[in-house]
Amino acid sequence: MHFAHDTEVVLLSAAALVNSVGGGDDTDELDSVAALDDFVAEWEFTGSRTHDEAELAAVRRLRPRLRGIWTSDEETMVGLVNELLREHQALPQLVRHDSFSWHIHAVSSEEPLATRMAVETAMALVDVIRLGETERLHSCDAPDCDDVLVDLSRNRSRRYCGAGCGNRMAAQAYRARQAGESA
Ligand SMILES: [Zn+2]
Ligand SMILES: [Zn+2]
Repeated sequence: MHFAHDTEVVLLSAAALVNSVGGGDDTDELDSVAALDDFVAEWEFTGSRTHDEAELAAVRRLRPRLRGIWTSDEETMVGLVNELLREHQALPQLVRHDSFSWHIHAVSSEEPLATRMAVETAMALVDVIRLGETERLHSCDAPDCDDVLVDLSRNRSRRYCGAGCGNRMAAQAYRARQAGESA
């Protein structure tokens, strides 16, 4: 199965936002307005910006909430998604702008960036939940990594956040087998 393309992009950008802090170390990639500008450009967020510390702080505050949704069971996820939609008075509207064909905005493009990120993610999660695909959202299986991921593979086989963790765990398993054979 496939989610709509815009849903997939939103889920991937939300995971990237969550993973901008933590993971294997405690560095925060969103440590300046310039870093936020880069993130916004990379993921092609449109709409109004204020380019100030308040905007950055609001986006950073959104991360633990999204992480909480990502790592919840389905019932809890539903409650948290509904809460985000209520909080921002989401009103779904079909829109078309820039190079994007028809998709849904549930708040105005004049709303703060963090609000748009929150509602956009909530709307994408509505798709995931309705399709019964919440198992596709989970944390990396590597024991020393808490990054989150979106498993878009055909058979829901993705276990690691990225090639780095996948290769590292494969190498560890290989060394463990070697050690077992030589013991
Ligand atoms: Zn849009
Ligand atoms: Zn990982």
